[in-house]
Amino acid sequence: MSSRTTCYVTGCSNPVSRTALFVALDGAVSEVSHCQEHVRNLGMDWVIPTPAAFPRDFSRISYVDCGLSIVSLEYAAERFALVLKTSDAERVFVAQTGYTEACWISYIVERAEYPAPPTHVLLVRILEALGGSLVEATVDSYDFDRNAYRCQLVLEAGGRSMKIASRVSDAVAMAYVVGCPIRVNAAFLGYDYKSRSVS
Ligand SMILES: [Zn+2]
Repeated sequence: MSSRTTCYVTGCSNPVSRTALFVALDGAVSEVSHCQEHVRNLGMDWVIPTPAAFPRDFSRISYVDCGLSIVSLEYAAERFALVLKTSDAERVFVAQTGYTEACWISYIVERAEYPAPPTHVLLVRILEALGGSLVEATVDSYDFDRNAYRCQLVLEAGGRSMKIASRVSDAVAMAYVVGCPIRVNAAFLGYDYKSRSVS
């Protein structure tokens, strides 16, 4: 991320409240930072289901393919989020994450090459060196005790398929590195407030 500490709006010198790293479908990355007053310019008003609205039964899951769209860092509020969208950008999945995780994913997204591979890139290289591949990542269910999504990495190696439990941030990072889909339980998807409120 850039070292810029003041708002991007012309003439505004307020300190940055929120930085958003936008990842376009073609992989192009752009960064925008705004102060508290101008943060609405980022256009990130989503209506997303809360855990209280999640189903309790995850035995029958309907998945929707998503891709990383925004890494959002709200510094003062200490809220850091990974925003995934469907390819038509109609639906959105928002997962809160930690500052460290958001920074590492930003680092991976912003660079095409690394002086030394960050951990998620290293994991992918090790997996591939051993003849395996990451086929997809899934966001399956929700752990109401830990307040965390349950994710799986779907791997293939030696003609076998296997699943490994993962944190949502690791699943997003590794799927991004490989370029494989992240399939999200449709029950967790929300939508952009504007897309439904403007007629
Ligand atoms: Zn501003």
